[in-house]
Amino acid sequence: MDKKEILSKFSTDPERYYKVKLFEDERFERKSCVTCKRFYWTMDENRVNCPDHSDDTYSFIGNPPTAKRFDYTQAWKEVESFFVKNGHTSVNRYPVVCRWRDDLYFTIASIVDFQRVMGSKVVFEFPANPLVVPQTCLRFKDLENVGITGRHFSSFCMIGQHSIPNSHGYWKDECIDLDYRLVTEQFGVDKKEVVFVEDVWEGGGSFGSSLEFFVKGLELGNAVFTEFQGDLSNYKTLDQQIIDMGAGLERFAWLTMGTPTAYDCCCGPITNNLLQQAGIDKNDELLVTYFTKIAKHLEQFSDLSEVRKNAIKSAGLSDEQMNKIIIPVEGIYLIVDHIRTLIFAISDGALPSNVGGGYNLRMMLRRIISTMDRLSLKLDMNEIVDAQIDYLKNTYPELEKTREDVKTIIGIESGRYENSKLRMEKIVSKLNQKPTVDDLIRLYESDGVTPDYLKEMKVISDIPSTFYSKLSQLHQSKKQKEQDQVSLEGLPETELLYYGDDPKEFDAKILKSFDKYVVLDKTSFYARGGGQEPDHGTIGKFEVVDVSKHGNIIVHELKNGIPKEGNTVSCVVNSKRRDGITKNHTSTHILNSSSRNVLGSWVWQHSAFKEEDHARLDITHHSALTDDEITKIEKLANSAVEKNMPVTIENFDRGTAEQKYGFKIYQGGIVPVKSIRIVSIEDFDIEACGGTHVKKTGEIELIKITRTKRIQDGVVRIEFVSGGTAIDYVKQHDDDLIKKSVELKDKTELKEKRQEQKQELREKFPILVESITQSKIGTSIVDEIIVDITESGKPNFCCTMSDQYGEFFHISFGEKLIEKDPWMVYCGVFEDGDKIRAIIYSGDQAAKDKKAGYIAKIVSEVLGGAGGGNQRFAQGGGKDKSKKNDAIEKVKSMVLEV
Ligand SMILES: [Zn+2]
Ligand SMILES: [Zn+2]
Repeated sequence: MDKKEILSKFSTDPERYYKVKLFEDERFERKSCVTCKRFYWTMDENRVNCPDHSDDTYSFIGNPPTAKRFDYTQAWKEVESFFVKNGHTSVNRYPVVCRWRDDLYFTIASIVDFQRVMGSKVVFEFPANPLVVPQTCLRFKDLENVGITGRHFSSFCMIGQHSIPNSHGYWKDECIDLDYRLVTEQFGVDKKEVVFVEDVWEGGGSFGSSLEFFVKGLELGNAVFTEFQGDLSNYKTLDQQIIDMGAGLERFAWLTMGTPTAYDCCCGPITNNLLQQAGIDKNDELLVTYFTKIAKHLEQFSDLSEVRKNAIKSAGLSDEQMNKIIIPVEGIYLIVDHIRTLIFAISDGALPSNVGGGYNLRMMLRRIISTMDRLSLKLDMNEIVDAQIDYLKNTYPELEKTREDVKTIIGIESGRYENSKLRMEKIVSKLNQKPTVDDLIRLYESDGVTPDYLKEMKVISDIPSTFYSKLSQLHQSKKQKEQDQVSLEGLPETELLYYGDDPKEFDAKILKSFDKYVVLDKTSFYARGGGQEPDHGTIGKFEVVDVSKHGNIIVHELKNGIPKEGNTVSCVVNSKRRDGITKNHTSTHILNSSSRNVLGSWVWQHSAFKEEDHARLDITHHSALTDDEITKIEKLANSAVEKNMPVTIENFDRGTAEQKYGFKIYQGGIVPVKSIRIVSIEDFDIEACGGTHVKKTGEIELIKITRTKRIQDGVVRIEFVSGGTAIDYVKQHDDDLIKKSVELKDKTELKEKRQEQKQELREKFPILVESITQSKIGTSIVDEIIVDITESGKPNFCCTMSDQYGEFFHISFGEKLIEKDPWMVYCGVFEDGDKIRAIIYSGDQAAKDKKAGYIAKIVSEVLGGAGGGNQRFAQGGGKDKSKKNDAIEKVKSMVLEV
């Protein structure tokens, strides 16, 4: 269905779709814009244009239409007190990480808080009716506008006003009356300034009319009436009609403050402080002029660089004014906005990474750093985080708890970026033409090079407006639902004995048997689910090899045949297997909490797998685990085991469970049922879980982490064992340790032995050296060392190939010998494995003519190998052991020239 078609249909019958009681009572007039023909409602008889096309558009900048000024914090207090005064419950914001929907990474609107997906249907669950909520929403598709347009944020507070029309709630008349009074009575805007524009909404098979409300060209909110289902030719009223009014809190503040941009009044003193640090006067008239032009041009041009170009022209700004004032101001706005978003996202458990929703966070952090570098701003990110949380905690006190964690994560991520810069520089230097949008995406996806970095390096002058939206699309959640292969139509829900008495032996009736599958009327066989592997055992005489859940029906897969339909059979669950799996499952919960306690609040279960004799838990964490961290996690987990805490299981209504325990219960992912099974280990760990668990943690006996590994950016895998398997593992490990220590002892002894030998030799060296150098002219032998002493002024020669001497001897002894006798040439030959080696020394005098390096070369040639060195010391060798004597003779003749 096309929105335009719905709008044109609804516009033909304004009485039915748009006219509310307020318009009647206050004599609002319905008009059509002379420029764009859109229909709107106003009390101003002189108005001829819709808010987008009026002369007074954005005239509130520098001239706010209210007597009082309200910043972000104060604006929410006004909104909240107004709605509470008018019968609404004020609900705390929901997390910005949307863990209750598998098609969204982040919460993008206040209505998302109350949507739960069951199969293909979206159902609404409101904790109160009517209600108001200050919902922080994250949206990344307009990222290139942030800082530049004055009104786009990567995260903003959506004031959610929601009502279901019944005895508690209300419908269109009261909704519009409240919104009108909020703006006029509570905020003090003149009645004539409020304009309601007709629009429509459609999505998820339903649709309805909506009224957007504007003051001075600024859209403050949009009241959507979810009313119909079907298509335009045939539609009916929904059973559950819903008021979904979303308004921008930032815009309420901006309107009353009249600052040049919305960033100036919504981030408390932070923006002002940063402007001051950068030496910019926030009261400069130029800012008001420029940003008013920007706001107006935004309605006229679709391309952001056109908007900017025209604003510069019509505000008459010089290049110098742009470079010295506007560009740094834009950068500071961007930094303030992006850090605010990171604070919310990290506090709610998201981590910057290169996958899923984490990619947006990494991108933003890199934009912050690039912007600081480009503008040479020396800002302290920790200080900005502190200042923002100090301000935001007025509205969101929960942010105080994660203050340090946010700083830790930002610090780690910034370090990573700095480290990758050198690599990026190289990649960028190789670019030989201006990159296209697809090039930019490839550069970011494969090399982590952000377009902001390219801008900083002056490779591109602007970031193409399609870049962020294209990239966002690439990272949309694309979870595929498993398809049911089996036809189970007409079968009743299987009675689940494992949630009751959980008998390991029971009789059951075969309701259906086909191929290798069997469906029973009741079962104690746990079906694969939530990372827990299925039970095994027997049904009749057949072995159960797999169990799966299809809707509310359990299907058992058997081996070697199936029993007959209609029969009653006796069934036995393999309790040893179940026992192992169960211990591992409860251990997963314990390790998950232990990891969060040791590492930080950002740790969530990413996924888990529980088999009989091994299990793994994947957690969200920024780095690989250190040995110290692993030890601490294991220690904490085992102290939870030792405390023998009871594991209790209770069923709650989903809404009640969420309110009572928060969204941390969704560690195992979303739970698509209205009644939630909460598994709690006192207050150590509380999770929504459908698995089997021990009754007391002591039953687990021991948890042993066997291995950890960083399996993807932002995810660490912990492999572990528990129960008897863990005890066996530790014993085995101890045995291995003993073996290893025996080997180590042997090695040490050997080393000591060699050490002793060396010591002996050292003591022997002076005596040997002394007796050799004292030898008479001619040939003599000392301790298997042959010595040839010549007349003075000629080289002497000394050699040995005795088996009792090894490398250490030759190297140490040769050295000492030539020190004592500078006319000496020493040659030691010894076997080393399958090789024969030679060590040559030549004393200072002898080396003038008989260089060690040359001698080694010749000896090696004889031995069938190669060698070399300097004139004093050289070595070589070869493989031909039979040439040992030839080699020695060769050296001797070379040295003595005989
Ligand atoms: Zn218009
Ligand atoms: Zn679980």
